[in-house]
Amino acid sequence: MLSDLNEIEQEINSFPVNSPEELENFRLKFISRNGLLTGLFEELKNVSREEKPVVGKKLNEVKKLAESKFNTLKAQLDDTGSKKEDIDLTLPAASYSIGREHLISQTLAEMVKIFREIGFKVTDGPELEEEFYNFDALNTPAHHPARDMQDTFYVQSTTDKDKKHVLRTHTSPVQIRTMLQNKPPLRIISPGKVFRNETVTYKNYFMFHQLEGLYIDKNVSMRDLKGVLAYFFKKFYGENTKIRFIPSFFPFTEPSGQVDISCFICGGKGCKTCKETGWLEVGGCGMVDPNVFRSVNIDPEEYTGYAFGMGMERLTMMKYGIKDIRILYQNDVRFLDQF
Ligand SMILES: [Zn+2]
Repeated sequence: MLSDLNEIEQEINSFPVNSPEELENFRLKFISRNGLLTGLFEELKNVSREEKPVVGKKLNEVKKLAESKFNTLKAQLDDTGSKKEDIDLTLPAASYSIGREHLISQTLAEMVKIFREIGFKVTDGPELEEEFYNFDALNTPAHHPARDMQDTFYVQSTTDKDKKHVLRTHTSPVQIRTMLQNKPPLRIISPGKVFRNETVTYKNYFMFHQLEGLYIDKNVSMRDLKGVLAYFFKKFYGENTKIRFIPSFFPFTEPSGQVDISCFICGGKGCKTCKETGWLEVGGCGMVDPNVFRSVNIDPEEYTGYAFGMGMERLTMMKYGIKDIRILYQNDVRFLDQF
């Protein structure tokens, strides 16, 4: 019987257990009520009186070995049934690269938040636009240079040859659509993509983002316009930012102005960024032209309004000192990751 026990001992040691099924086989074979060891305990009574102490001791040792192997293996098998790996909890965790919003999306969110806080509602419209909304209704007649093929992407409709479509060159058509559908007072911003048929350079891209604003009510004046833009740029570039208007021309506003802000790099003293002038151009604005009101059936005798527009890429590039617009759209994670 001793030789039997030695054999069983070897078997226990070499029995392969890698799954819950094998563990159960191990239990049935050695430990269970019908297992080998229980049988040997019953046979112990047939062993001679002299051998009994030695055999009994060995039998107990083998039983303990089987039980301890069973318990160890049971602890090693996890819920999924596979053997637990040794885990070193002191090792540094694997690093994940987490996605983030594109820099322009961040600028968009920041601008929208500032304008929303002072009562502007966000409006949206199609990027593929009818010529009427993009030009005609905005006091930009058929022979206006802005319609030139050089500047505008035209899209030919296959179903309606008379209706010319364009990739919108500004977000102003959203204002036209809003004015046609709603009665004043109106206080809206329209942020979004616009398209120009431009050669791509470090400062020009065929697509960029605009945010335009429009406020129409009774007795709206240039003073309101200057107030709201001063408020916005102080929030966006810092409390010490000053603004100024320089006379300009747009077909859809009269009078029109270029908006400059005091250079936030040098504080107005003059530096490379502001070309030693102390000022930076940031957008265009003006009082809505009466012709625009007439094209959307708003009485220019009763209502006045202001409009402004700015390019998000330009504002963003100035804010972060980015010199080349193309880098914003090259999907280079090494660049985008910095913001
Ligand atoms: Zn400066």
